[in-house]
Amino acid sequence: MALWISLLLLSGAACSARKPLTEMSDQELEELRAWPDLPYTPVEVGSELPQIPSDVPPARVDRPRELYVRTWAALQHLPHDQARTELTQALESRELAIAYSKDSPDAGGVVLREGRPLLVLNANVLADTKPYALVNVWTTLTHESEHLRQLRVATGPALEAFQYGELYPGERFTEEVCAALWRDERAAYRVECELSNTWSNSNQGFDQICRKLNDDPAYDQALLRLMVFAREDRNPECLSTWARLAGHPHPEAFGVFRPKR
Ligand SMILES: [Zn+2]
Repeated sequence: MALWISLLLLSGAACSARKPLTEMSDQELEELRAWPDLPYTPVEVGSELPQIPSDVPPARVDRPRELYVRTWAALQHLPHDQARTELTQALESRELAIAYSKDSPDAGGVVLREGRPLLVLNANVLADTKPYALVNVWTTLTHESEHLRQLRVATGPALEAFQYGELYPGERFTEEVCAALWRDERAAYRVECELSNTWSNSNQGFDQICRKLNDDPAYDQALLRLMVFAREDRNPECLSTWARLAGHPHPEAFGVFRPKR
């Protein structure tokens, strides 16, 4: 998973009243989930904007061929050597296939389909024509290259996380799979942030997590906010596990699912 939407930041005072969680109002639950910003020393970032190559052609959102040509051209200019080399080799050797989605809230994802890694990219991210839209493609490709590395060595619950949607449609993750998802995202955002932080400005939403790269507690807090925002409706069963792994003072408050309105 890689997000391209802005982060929703929660704020509010801690709640001291402790009636059963299931009897709490939405607001009481929200207060228990609130978590004041942890201190951090901002990562030093680059002083320049990324250089956008002129030979990456535009693509229309409903034209897979154009999207692929743009993806490949963007990949050849990806300013992250390991991600560029590994993804290029994986595509050339046909270890990895690419598909495009218009409906996903994620910018990208790596899943197992029929035993083969599939890189799913958001067509809207590829087709975006804003001047620095290519930066989102680069950070997404870098993030997903880390997931490909994870998938290659995944076993047990970690492998199950990549199979979700194929083998377990509509089923819920176990705590072990939720924990594997957390570890994988934690590492993938770290690699993505290392690239993003080489520029003076990349994506203001990601600044919330990428500037905290050197302070684990603050980084984990930012990752939890991002994961809850992105996946609360999809994986409500994982929230309390993620909150516990992030070091939230009341992870149990995330065990009560209230659908977004
Ligand atoms: Zn991810």
